Amino acid sequence: MGQGMEQRLTIEASGLDGLFAVLEERGFTVVGPTVREGAIVYDRLASPADLPRGITDEQDGGVYRLKKRDDDALFGYVVGPQSWKRFLDPPVKRLWRAERDGSDFRIVPEEVPREAFAFLGVRSCEIHAMEIQDRVYIDGEFKDPGYEARRRSALIIAVQCTVAGGTCFCVSMNTGPKSESGFDLALIEVVDTERHVFVIEAGSPRGREILEALETRPSEASELAEAENRIADAAARMGRTFDAEGVHDLLTQNLEHPRWAEVAGRCLSCANCTMVCPTCFCSTVEDVTDVSGDHAERWQKQDSCFTMDFSQLHGGIVRSSTRSRYRQWLTHKLATWIDQFGVSGCTGCGRCITWCPVAIDLTEEVAAIRANPPDAVEPHRRGKP
Ligand code: SF4
Ligand code: SF4
Repeated sequence: MGQGMEQRLTIEASGLDGLFAVLEERGFTVVGPTVREGAIVYDRLASPADLPRGITDEQDGGVYRLKKRDDDALFGYVVGPQSWKRFLDPPVKRLWRAERDGSDFRIVPEEVPREAFAFLGVRSCEIHAMEIQDRVYIDGEFKDPGYEARRRSALIIAVQCTVAGGTCFCVSMNTGPKSESGFDLALIEVVDTERHVFVIEAGSPRGREILEALETRPSEASELAEAENRIADAAARMGRTFDAEGVHDLLTQNLEHPRWAEVAGRCLSCANCTMVCPTCFCSTVEDVTDVSGDHAERWQKQDSCFTMDFSQLHGGIVRSSTRSRYRQWLTHKLATWIDQFGVSGCTGCGRCITWCPVAIDLTEEVAAIRANPPDAVEPHRRGKP
């Protein structure tokens, strides 16, 4: 995937049927947004009719609800509780199985997945989240072959954000609202009383080949201007802001800040924030056997630093208090993630704020620590782990 500096073309909204057909011809399974149980989720789509037509989402701390729009926009919402990691790194997966072979066991590795996804409707913050997870699963010493196979085959069809959510702060994290790279195709939806079109550009040779197979026309100047205006409008309407300057040192030098105890008094340790976060990757493994003892399997399951068992070592639990678990999550996400992977673990998508049942907001928590400088905390306790 390369830089998206291509000629921009226009397809009519009705032309999305053609896009689905072209993707299917090339063997892709189309995955995109659809409405289910009062939320916009990502799932396999049969046609554009499955998209959330005329729907938007209202989001704030602990608040998410769908509302009708006064137009037929297909991507007129922000992000829902799920992210693409559900498909790239399934939350429950078998790693291998073992079959008895005489007095030994024979290990049977899992087959590398062959299904190629076309992800339709990927937002800029989500492309950044995938690139962050690439560092975890592909770029390090140990690779996850399943993730790598799914990621390398996936076609990324971005949709530029023209609506900002109440908990979004991608502008502060420099991850949006416009995708500049990391996509195969990028769409900007322009819908008003007179038109419903998508301005489309390719960002890779694969995307260009697909674009050439679609029925397009050169974009009109008014369409391009309106598309750019809508993205600029989304950038100006972020629901949250976050001061990322020096956040690594701010957090790592304030490990005994009284704010950790204050937030722990509200936090339910429910793990919602880690489940919805598009970059969190903690997992656990479980071994299971059948009653005959001839067959065993190892399964990997999504886990969270908020569960008590996650930090269990021989002899006890390392992070037994909610205070230590919240502090671990936030300092890893915003500070030690940078030491580990060279980038922040946060893209500013806002999901952890929206889906926290008690509306804990990491932008507020960091601001509260910043407002109470390190000098206010006993010096000998600042760096205590
Ligand atoms: S920490 Fe929160 S805002 Fe940042 S990427 Fe994760 S869910 Fe999104
Ligand atoms: S911060 Fe909110 S979402 Fe996260 S564990 Fe605590 S209560 Fe749950």
